[in-house]
Amino acid sequence: MEESGQAESEQPLQSFNTHEAGLASIPRWLEVLLAKEFFNSCLVHEAEKKNEENTLCLDCCTGLCSHCLPPHKAHNLLQVNFANVITQTTF
Ligand SMILES: [Zn+2]
Ligand SMILES: [Zn+2]
Repeated sequence: MEESGQAESEQPLQSFNTHEAGLASIPRWLEVLLAKEFFNSCLVHEAEKKNEENTLCLDCCTGLCSHCLPPHKAHNLLQVNFANVITQTTF
């Protein structure tokens, strides 16, 4: 005799994770920073020298290389160093 192996486990819909409260303190640009592979070459300026994206524009939430910088001069820029990433992201 065969049993239909359909294991229907009813999960309560109220599975709210409250880690949202913790995430709320993380600014958008930091999410970008953490999600992004930094220090990669700028795709726009891959033929140029010094094209590592080592600056983050907090206004545009995008990584910038030294050639991308000029249009963003008036924006809030975060210069990212390897050391800074560690120190500035310890909230
Ligand atoms: Zn910008
Ligand atoms: Zn660039």
